[in-house]
Amino acid sequence: MLGLMQQHPLLISSMITFADRHHGGTEIVSATVEGALAKTGAKHRYTYREAHIRAKRLANALIGLGIAPSDRVGTLAWNGYRHFELYFGVSGMGAILHTINPRLFPDQISWIANHAEDKVLFFDLSFVGLVEKLAPHLNCKAYVLMTDEAHMPAQSSLPNLLCYETLLAAASPDYAWPVFDENTASSMCYTSGTTGNPKGALYSHRSTVLHVYGAAMPDALCLSSRDAVMPVVPMFHANAWSLAYACPAVGAKLVLPGMSLDGKSVYELMESEKVTFSAGVPTVWLGLLQHVDGNGLRFSSLNRTVIGGSACPPAIINRFKDQYNVDVLHAWGMTEMSPLGTVGTLKAKHDGLPIEKQRETLYKQGHAIFGVDMKIVDDTGAELPWDGKAFGDLHVQGPWVTSGYYKRDGETVLIDGWFPTGDVATIDPDGYMQITDRSKDVIKSGGEWISSIDIENLAMSHPAVAEAACIAMAHPKWDERPLLVVVKKAGQEISRDEMLAFFGGKIAKWWIPDDVVFVNELPHTATGKLQKLKLREQFKGHVPA
Ligand code: ADP
Repeated sequence: MLGLMQQHPLLISSMITFADRHHGGTEIVSATVEGALAKTGAKHRYTYREAHIRAKRLANALIGLGIAPSDRVGTLAWNGYRHFELYFGVSGMGAILHTINPRLFPDQISWIANHAEDKVLFFDLSFVGLVEKLAPHLNCKAYVLMTDEAHMPAQSSLPNLLCYETLLAAASPDYAWPVFDENTASSMCYTSGTTGNPKGALYSHRSTVLHVYGAAMPDALCLSSRDAVMPVVPMFHANAWSLAYACPAVGAKLVLPGMSLDGKSVYELMESEKVTFSAGVPTVWLGLLQHVDGNGLRFSSLNRTVIGGSACPPAIINRFKDQYNVDVLHAWGMTEMSPLGTVGTLKAKHDGLPIEKQRETLYKQGHAIFGVDMKIVDDTGAELPWDGKAFGDLHVQGPWVTSGYYKRDGETVLIDGWFPTGDVATIDPDGYMQITDRSKDVIKSGGEWISSIDIENLAMSHPAVAEAACIAMAHPKWDERPLLVVVKKAGQEISRDEMLAFFGGKIAKWWIPDDVVFVNELPHTATGKLQKLKLREQFKGHVPA
């Protein structure tokens, strides 16, 4: 027997429609890219009602540009109101929003945009030079600069360069969001978090809406219409951890920080817009705390912040709580998980415990959000106990977890229906997960991936290098930084500085290792595989020259 409830597909357009009808006067405030470039600090403010009208104009403009359902539309943009309109205008009309990480090396960006077959690229004013460099390698039929006529460059090598505001002004606001299958793809985000080429996670309308329901729950991010939310986590990083959707869905005020993410800019925007909730990687909060500490400031409205993307150092959790009475929610997730998997909040049973005991729980990566299930397994795939001690490969499943990557048909990603995360973790009897290591071969610096394999391959292309291994070393600001360990070829010479100089121009600057050390041999397993764990042990506490 089937239920007798109405059939409404879960669609992204429903969130902006809801925000317009039920929280229409609530504001979206953006630090504009134009203002940051001109150093005026200009802000743009409007309401969900106005954003909805502009998202509909955008949908009509996209149709005018020849964008059809399922076409990919790329963005290279910071957190701002036009990017927000693209989130709804593109997905809402049935096309696929492809948010690209502008911090990648240009070759990686063009590879990703071509792999996704982006038809149109929308980009912020700060990326004009970058896009001019990329364009000869792309197949986009139009480039839309997310600004007004006054800020359009007088000259540009870009073919078919259009102005966002002009496009919108010419488009009608009359548009009815189409209703279609909720399993339709809505957006995509590439992750370079593993070896080889970047892989595209392809979200659906259904997965996105369910993820928002999960994210907003009290023991997850606990979002409400009383919040003013500032996602510092970029909108090109896995949907800004759901916030670009969740805020309209709960009617929260949205504060978008644009391109200035230093402690001072973030703090001033938080204070002036009375931000209650924020989100970002540990590196950002270090900068913020430094600014606040150094200037004897207080947070007058901020009461909680979600920190994830890398392990949050206990010292940050303690400083926020003890000095500023701000609760840190330590969260873990992945691009492949939309991205939220676990969030650290306490249960009633923790209330009576001494603070140190409570903190031990809060330092962990948290418990699963309803919608996500997780388990830890050993090398044979057998599930390990939840005793807080046994550690194994962390596997997850749920309706917002990927089942496979875009255009990689035939590749088996899941193991018995579970997604192997590449993280190694423990789970305690109360269900709190703690990451202890990573089995995937990558380094996370300031919340962004560095592929150790790419660096090793490049190092080994140098004629004096016999073997090279790149490992993460702990770093106080960036969490992790790459260290290159090199075995020279017999009779060959190369210095640390020559090795580092060799990387110049071949990879992004921030990918270049912080140090190079030379050894006679690298540790290998019986089968000849590099033993990175051993190497990480060996160089624990290494201080760069
Ligand atoms: P995001 O864009 O959310 O950072 P990525 O897919 O780039 O997602 O990175 C996901 C990976 O980052 C995880 O598999 C894990 O290795 C690491 N990670 C994320 N959050 C945490 C955390 N709180 N603690 C430790 N590692 C984390």
